[in-house]
Formats: sequence, structure tokens, C-alpha cells
Amino acid sequence: MIKNYINGRLIEPVSEKYFDNFDPATGTVYGIIPDSDERDIELAVSAAEAAFNEWANLPVMARSKYLLKIASLIQRDLKEFARAECVDNGKPLSLARAVDIPRAVQNFEFFASAVHGFASEAHQTEDDAINYTLRSPIGIVGAISPWNLPLYLFTWKIAPALITGNCVIAKPSEVTPVTAFMLSEACIEAGLPAGVLNIVHGFGNKAGKAISSHPKIKAITFTGGTKTGAEIASIAAPMFKKISLELGGKNPNIIFADCNYDKMLETTLRSSFRNQGEICLCGSRIFIEKPLYEKFKNDFIVKVQELHIGDPLELDTDQGAIVSKQHLEKVLSYIQLAKEEGGTILCGGNRFVPEGRCENGWFIEPTVIEGLPYNCRTNQEEIFGPVVTLIPFETEDEVLLMANSTEYGLASTVWTENLSKAHRIASALETGIVWINCWMVRDLRTPFGGMKSSGVGREGGLEALRFFTEPKNVCVKL
Ligand code: NAD
Repeated sequence: MIKNYINGRLIEPVSEKYFDNFDPATGTVYGIIPDSDERDIELAVSAAEAAFNEWANLPVMARSKYLLKIASLIQRDLKEFARAECVDNGKPLSLARAVDIPRAVQNFEFFASAVHGFASEAHQTEDDAINYTLRSPIGIVGAISPWNLPLYLFTWKIAPALITGNCVIAKPSEVTPVTAFMLSEACIEAGLPAGVLNIVHGFGNKAGKAISSHPKIKAITFTGGTKTGAEIASIAAPMFKKISLELGGKNPNIIFADCNYDKMLETTLRSSFRNQGEICLCGSRIFIEKPLYEKFKNDFIVKVQELHIGDPLELDTDQGAIVSKQHLEKVLSYIQLAKEEGGTILCGGNRFVPEGRCENGWFIEPTVIEGLPYNCRTNQEEIFGPVVTLIPFETEDEVLLMANSTEYGLASTVWTENLSKAHRIASALETGIVWINCWMVRDLRTPFGGMKSSGVGREGGLEALRFFTEPKNVCVKL
């Protein structure tokens, strides 16, 4: 049974109420989740307040050791964490083992060491004054995360917040809470002081809202949908909270005819359908230069049809289950919309029913659509599932216009062997991240985040360490 982790202990929600947790691969209930509310958040805030001074004043090396200990415990139990992530989310076990859980370990390890290079700035003013910048923890911060990369994104927020001396109230998605609960067990085993990290489970509009509106929580780091981000911002902004918002996307994947074809084809398959297309960085609009269009289309469809959909626990599964029934219905409704907008379904397009234990699970065939204008709803709105569209283009100007036409600006991919063209396109794309001839190559030191409706602020490396600290300039007249 999942419990809240507050003040160093695993406890029941004040309401004593729970709601169901589903296994998306079988469509069955397999656990229950605390239905927390503002009373649980109040308990967490009191615990964090009590813990703050001691934690903030610990030598940074001591905080680092706690993070490294937590990392080593997740690493020790990697197989159990990966299995739990697979069952809770529906993602292939192989992916959880290779990406999700190793990255959660790295998040703790990375920030435990990155903090040592977080030097304070100094500015000499003329020759008679010197300024230096002190950076202190903000206090209590809130971290709210989504279901698609559950532990990966949860720890991406928690690790930098803790290392900079803040106490944290964190809420995982109510759709995928299990690995966050396992993290609380790891924190207890690591001896993390009580109240430093509090993990509260529950619904967004109750437990989540109680975090974003609590006056003693001074900063909110949020990853999730754009609509939710706007709601959080509307509560946090008048309270002058610091906010970091990592939101939705509708990422363009731009393929020029002079690309390294085999590398592009293999990577485009992954960037389209990895994690059932439920990665905010997946390229859902594939723009192909006209001379390559037919060849790409034919080869791509062959590859897509070879993908093995089914039981996420089977190690040869490429595409697992869609995270929830509600999300399954949303994705299917977009496939229907694509048809109504005049699109042709080249492959997929239907719910998939595996044989055996997953016959009642929530699966969708990987779907490729063509024949839609770039500005129709299917090509403008985030679907966040195994659905991509193919759009031909002739010129750089034309593809840039189409690529930049959505309200989103998270990530993009460009395929060309022409260096000048690659840099030219990268500079003109309105996205926070551009991958040239690759996809999802991540260096944790780089700024991560989106432009336009894809977010506010950046996380990662120094950006995260800056976000979680309050700078103070001290000017000394010599
Ligand atoms: P969501 O916005 O529904 O929920 C995200 C989190 O916010 C959950 O923990 C939820 O409980 C909480 N929440 C919901 N309503 C809230 C409220 N009113 N106040 C406070 N908290 C609230 O998003 P989701 O469906 O879990 O995740 C999918 C979305 O996340 C997609 O749009 C995807 O693009 C986005 N995403 C973005 C990134 C990025 O880095 N930019 C990464 C992953 C996912």
C-alpha cells in the first residue's frame, strides 16, 4: 500500500481515503493511492519548516553524501524499480531498465557533484568597489511531476532542490505513484533527516493545488501539461513565487534529402514511438524534403509495422501500453479527428488487443498519417501518443514556417549532412532544444526547457542550481 512520506515517516493521508491505481497493460486495479489534501500538505510544510535550518546549514559535502547514498540504493534495487515503473506506467521493461531508472540514479549523482562547481560570481566596479553574489536556499519548494517518465522527472526536480539546501514537498503524478513511494523508502534507508523531503500523493486539483497555493512554499517546479502550467502560474504569480514550468510540445522532426538516411530512419523510428510516443521530446510532426518523401514513407511504414507491441514485461516489446484509459481515449479521438480533417492513415490507427494476459489492456497501434495541412488541429495540438504525421516540404523557408507554426516550442530534430544548413535551421527554430542528426542525446549540464507555451525557465545544470537559490549581491566599497 502506498503511503505519504512526511517528516521522515510513512503515514496515511489525513482523510484516510484512497483511490485506485491501475495497471495499464491489463486494465485492472492493482493498488491504492492516498487521496491527500491541504491537511497533508500542511503537515509536510510544518515538517519542512522544522527541518530547514539544519539542512540549509549542513556543509554541502554532507548534503552530497545523502544524495549519493540515495543514488546507490536506487542502483542496488534497479531491477525492482524498473519493474515497478513498467507495471505502473505501461512502458516496456527494457526501457525502464535502460533509461528511466538509470537516469534517476544519475540525477542524484549529477547534482551531488555539479554543486561543487557552482561558484559565486564577483564583479569589480571601476577600481573602488567589488560585488560578490551570495546564493542561499529559497526555503521550502514544491515539485510536481507527470506520469510519462515518473521517477526520471521526479528526481530531476528533487535532486537540485535538495543539494542547494531547500526542503521539498513533492507530488508525483497520481497516475504513476509507485516508484516515488519506493524513493521514500530509499530516503528512509539512507537516513535522510526527517522533513527534508516530503512526498505527498494525490490528485492534482487537490494535493497539487494545495502545494501551488501554500504561502510558505516559495517556489514551484512543475512538469506537465500546458493547461495545468497556466493554472499553477495563475495561483503562484500573484504570490510572487518563483516558478519553473516544463510543459507540452508538438515537436518538428525535419528531414532533408541530404541526410544520413539509415541513421535518420532508425532514429526517427525511436523519436516517434519510444515510450508509446509519450515523451515530451518525441517528434510528432515529421517534415520530409520532397525528393525523399516517397522513399521515406515506404521504408518508415515497413519499420513501424515491425515494431513489437504488447506485454511491457516481455523484454522484446518495443511499444507497451498507453498509461491510462482516459489517455487512450484522448489519443484515439485525435486519430478520429485526423480522419475527419482529411488525413490518410498509412498504418495503425486502431486500438490494439494483445493475446493473453494483456487482452484488456490499453494499447494503440503505432500510427502514421499523411495528407494533412500543417495548420490543422491534428498538426497543431499535442497528442502525446504513438501518432505521427508526415508532411512534405520544398524549401527551408517553407519548413521553418510550418515547424514554427504551433503554440509550442520545446524540442526539434534536424537531419542534414550540410553543416551550414544545419546551423542556419537550428538558429531559426523556435524551440528550447535542437538536435542535429540525433535525438534525445542528453547532457545534464545543458539548459533544458521550452519556449512559447512549452514552458517558463530552464532546468538542468547551473540553470537548476540558480533556480533553487536566491541570489544576493553584496557590494563592498574599497
Ligand atoms: P498534467 O498537467 O495533467 O499533470 C502533471 C502533474 O500536475 C500531476 O502530478 C498532476 O497531479 C498535477 N496537477 C494537475 N492539476 C493540477 C493543479 N491544478 N495544480 C497543481 N498540480 C496539478 O500532465 P500529465 O498528463 O501528467 O503529463 C503529460 C504532459 O506533461 C504533456 O503535456 C507533456 O508534454 C508534459 N511533459 C512535459 C515535459 C517537459 O519537460 N516539458 C516532460 C514530460 C511531460
